[in-house]
Amino acid sequence: MRGFVIKNCDVFGLKGEQPEFRFGHDIWVDGNRIKAITPTNPGQEGPDVEQIDGAGMLAVPGMINTHAHVPMVLLRGAAEDVPLTEWFNDYIFPMESNLTPEDVYWGALLGIAEMIEAGITYVADHYFFMDQVAEVVQTSGMRANLAWAVFEHEGVEKLKETTHFITRWQGKANGRITTWLGPHSPYLCGPEFLHTCAHVAKDLDIGVHIHAAETQEQVDASLAQYQKTPIRLLLDAGILERPTILAHCLYPTDEDLQVIADHPAGVGQAPKTYLRAGMGLRDIEQYQARGIPLGLATDGAASSSTLDLYEQMRLMALTQKFIQADARKASLGEILRIAFLGGAEVCREPEVGKLEPGYLADIVLLRQDRAASMPRLNPAANLVYALGAADVDTVICDGQVLMRGRKLLTINKAEVKQEVERRLARLVQRVPGRKVAVYPT
Ligand SMILES: [Zn+2]
Repeated sequence: MRGFVIKNCDVFGLKGEQPEFRFGHDIWVDGNRIKAITPTNPGQEGPDVEQIDGAGMLAVPGMINTHAHVPMVLLRGAAEDVPLTEWFNDYIFPMESNLTPEDVYWGALLGIAEMIEAGITYVADHYFFMDQVAEVVQTSGMRANLAWAVFEHEGVEKLKETTHFITRWQGKANGRITTWLGPHSPYLCGPEFLHTCAHVAKDLDIGVHIHAAETQEQVDASLAQYQKTPIRLLLDAGILERPTILAHCLYPTDEDLQVIADHPAGVGQAPKTYLRAGMGLRDIEQYQARGIPLGLATDGAASSSTLDLYEQMRLMALTQKFIQADARKASLGEILRIAFLGGAEVCREPEVGKLEPGYLADIVLLRQDRAASMPRLNPAANLVYALGAADVDTVICDGQVLMRGRKLLTINKAEVKQEVERRLARLVQRVPGRKVAVYPT
């Protein structure tokens, strides 16, 4: 059984809604789990136990990314300063028709490298050619919930194909991989198709990861076409009977919110995308008051530039205070709870999101030696507003060290850079009439 101890670090936790810090503690890891967290006592570890020096570092759980399109890092910067409809129809959907499985493989490597560097150890990913993403999750050491994105126009045959992916990878990589179904959205998958998805998900006993109610226009169009909101469509199709990740869900009605609260569904939000795309923002108290799980998401890098949840966390706190013109909103405890435990709840993963004995050993060490991290009058405020992805020093997932001293141990970044650059010119071509889907207008 492999094991090690992280010596003399500060440990972040939550006591109820209050942030709690234990200074000068050791974290004992046995196999893929945290065994104990004890005050540092030099020499206690004995000569045989491998040590990681945590002096001066802050230990936090690995961040949980509740909605992403990881290989989209290939299209970072490819569609800037354009509204959502153009973004989809004139740039992203045409460019995505160029993707090959090999492109997705190298994109996944780049995206996962970026996430490890940013202290993210879990991602709920929603994209194409997911066998390639699963392969990279396996070799990189990350933990993931993977859903193959499907559109109705691809047909039930395509949906069936993705179920083979689901059975191939479910529980693989020492249990680090979970596979769900990924119908794209109620605007690109109609009621009957969604109904079939719900059946398939039930048969396979899995969850569903889907975009929903992203803009008011989508809700209005759904009401005009079906006399139902997108959330009501998902309910009536049976999707919400399954564990469900609702990506974005910025425009649920009051009734929709109650429907979500009554079902095993959670919401992943990426405020940076909403700010950049001018999609508007939602008062998060409306989810929280009803006990709806809420977590942070990066979305794809083509809409949010970075796979960085520290940035999303900070933007969520700031925008909530801003839209409600109230400094008391989105308190440190509330935001930190969303960032860690909230993400675990959205992804239905009760064994991550917390540094406590018995939890899976997904641990991140942040350096606290930049001037901006000093002094530590309020470590929780530093964590939300001053520290960031660039302070991540060491990343451990499932008891395996993936990065140490900012050096990636499972991914060769120089090789990834070269392979990605070699593909760019072809990937950004836009051939008239060729796109993976059409965003309805
Ligand atoms: Zn998305």
